[in-house]
Amino acid sequence: QDPNAKFSRVMLKISGEALMGDLGYGLHPPTVERIAREVKIVHDLGVEICMVIGGGNIFRGLQGSAQGMERTTADYMGMLATVMNALAMQSALEGLGAHCRVISAIRMDEVAEPYIRRRAVRHLEKKRICIFAAGTGNPYFTTDTAATLRANEMACEAILKGTKVDGVYDKDPVKHADAKRYDRVSYDEVLAQHLGVMDASAIALARDNNLPIIVFSLDEPGGFKGILAGEGTYTTVHG
Ligand code: UDP
Repeated sequence: QDPNAKFSRVMLKISGEALMGDLGYGLHPPTVERIAREVKIVHDLGVEICMVIGGGNIFRGLQGSAQGMERTTADYMGMLATVMNALAMQSALEGLGAHCRVISAIRMDEVAEPYIRRRAVRHLEKKRICIFAAGTGNPYFTTDTAATLRANEMACEAILKGTKVDGVYDKDPVKHADAKRYDRVSYDEVLAQHLGVMDASAIALARDNNLPIIVFSLDEPGGFKGILAGEGTYTTVHG
């Protein structure tokens, strides 16, 4: 364990869209590999890593239901999309020589391990990266909530939410040049101001368990490693 590392066990949450590169849909393997390299660097420092990857690059339940699909079926399709992303990340991480397990909230034993909390903790202790797939296993939830839930169960010290921007802003920094970035912001402020960090149920679950959320840019090379040493720009959502 690197003595400079701020955390010994973290949850890294990334959206499905982070894996699609410049494509409009699906997976861009070089982008998956780039992110895998960032993860491997941190893992090599001795940090235990949990990951949750969204599915929005492939399918979102809400989109399906807006087009007339039954909502819960559409949500299961979204959960299956997260399994595909998790497998792509596992393949990239293993290609770099990191040990990794995909752990699914929906049983599919030929493809991924079922979620058994104690077994997952053991994997972490043995320095295997755990990718939690299929969200919470329940419709009407998101992978942000899944990441918060698993982070609590795995006793992670923080959720690191990798996004396209380097923190939480008072308005969309892509659209507004005068948008201001917060260094620190409270859970309640995020909820009251509708700051688009994570969905409200995920924020509330983090707040109720005092789990900090660190929002940082995944596009910044070395950004993930920087956060672990408390360097670079990011926003901490706290109590
Ligand atoms: N989903 C779900 N339950 C969960 C997690 C995810 O039903 O616990 C479904 C939901 O339909 C969601 C989709 O999976 O739209 C993909 O997840 P998400 O939208 O969180 O992905 P992201 O936006 O992070 O890529």
